[in-house]
Amino acid sequence: MNKPQRTQVGIIGSGPAGLLLAQLLSRHGIDSVIVERQSRAHVEARIRAGVLEQGTVALLREAGVSQRMEREGLVHEGITLAFAGRRERIDLRKLTGGSTVMIYGQTELTRDLINARLAANGAIHFESPALVVEDYLSEQPRIVYEQNGQQQELHCDFVAGCDGYHGVARQSVSADKLQVFEKLYPFGWLGILADVPPVDHELIYANHERGFALCSMRSPTRSRYYVQCALDDKVENWSDDAFWNELRRRLPAESAAQLISGPRLEMSIAPLRSFVAEPMRVGRLFLAGDAAHIVPPTGAKGLNLAGSDVFYLSRALIAYYGEGRTDLLDRYSATALRRVWKAIRFSWWLTSLMHKFDDDPINHRLQVAELDYVTGSVAGSTALAENYVGLPFEKFE
Ligand SMILES: Cc1cc2nc3c(=O)[nH]c(=O)nc-3n(C[C@H](O)[C@H](O)[C@H](O)COP(=O)(O)OP(=O)(O)OC[C@H]3O[C@@H](n4cnc5c(N)ncnc54)[C@H](O)[C@@H]3O)c2cc1C
Repeated sequence: MNKPQRTQVGIIGSGPAGLLLAQLLSRHGIDSVIVERQSRAHVEARIRAGVLEQGTVALLREAGVSQRMEREGLVHEGITLAFAGRRERIDLRKLTGGSTVMIYGQTELTRDLINARLAANGAIHFESPALVVEDYLSEQPRIVYEQNGQQQELHCDFVAGCDGYHGVARQSVSADKLQVFEKLYPFGWLGILADVPPVDHELIYANHERGFALCSMRSPTRSRYYVQCALDDKVENWSDDAFWNELRRRLPAESAAQLISGPRLEMSIAPLRSFVAEPMRVGRLFLAGDAAHIVPPTGAKGLNLAGSDVFYLSRALIAYYGEGRTDLLDRYSATALRRVWKAIRFSWWLTSLMHKFDDDPINHRLQVAELDYVTGSVAGSTALAENYVGLPFEKFE
């Protein structure tokens, strides 16, 4: 083993949570090192989320990485719910008193953050998987990782586990210190990415007797569409034509008529899961983002929750290094979890409302009745809108 390195905050994972945390800390002169299992090319190519809440957008501005997003991102003021052959628009801006969402791919956001980090000579060790977090209950936690086939140690004041659902940070904590809540949904999402103009200028969420469909986008020329599929379905079972035909069937006639199809750039199947590990802090190890929680993508909350965790964690660490305060570090887990559980609830509710769970026709009728209520009532559509644009961050200072 080589001589151990030292940093103030050791960060595992260069997804949105780890990169954004490092960027916010560096603006306050706090040193961090990121260890990342994958190569830079792999991290930058991962196709994932695309809807940013206002709070996430504000955080990217604060981190000084918003220039390209401001130029290329699309501000959306509403979404459409399609059901029973109808299309009903939810006016996010009007219902929330001015809030909107930003369409900007996670791929682009990740590239912006990596470029900013490397331009400021911040350390990211790519292709360097963390193996375990040691001594997290002591004042000197360590990340043991591998680089070029050799084991290395990173000694830190604090470790931020930002290494996603399959990472090692959470797994390093002994089982008696974490309580885990998990729900698996009995279906998945088959997604296609294609260079075709979006069917509508805003997102369409469709409830249909054949199953859920979502028309999303990454830019005015790149679309991201999904159809609900069986959990054991395989991408190999789907030709491009089969996908487009199934999507058309699930959309209202006027939208189906406008849908432009094209060859896939990517096609994948994602399972749907709700998962929370509590608490989000054990000793000097802090979990943030998917390392601590997973939501089904229906509410577009995964990436945004990584953002709100980082909002609280960055402020707690800045208060510690700037003023010697530990009170915000002590409040991190409970504060972050309050927002996490509200997003878990919203994502579960929207998933339950929009997907086909079984063949019993009463369930579809009940969904249509609820959609009729939600879209027809100011109270119902406001509750949807304010959760969709993102609940505000709590005061944390
Ligand atoms: C296929 C897919 C599609 C998705 N679609 C959507 C969507 O449409 N909308 C939405 O809101 N959310 C979506 N999500 C969720 C969203 O992408 C995540 O919530 C978001 O990426 C969370 O960011 P994160 O930084 O916490 O974790 P991640 O982005 O998962 O980053 C974790 C990082 O840690 C690294 N890592 C893992 N293990 C180790 C290790 N041992 N050592 C070092 N590094 C390690 C990983 O390589 C990765 O770079 C999707 C997720 C997936 C997997």
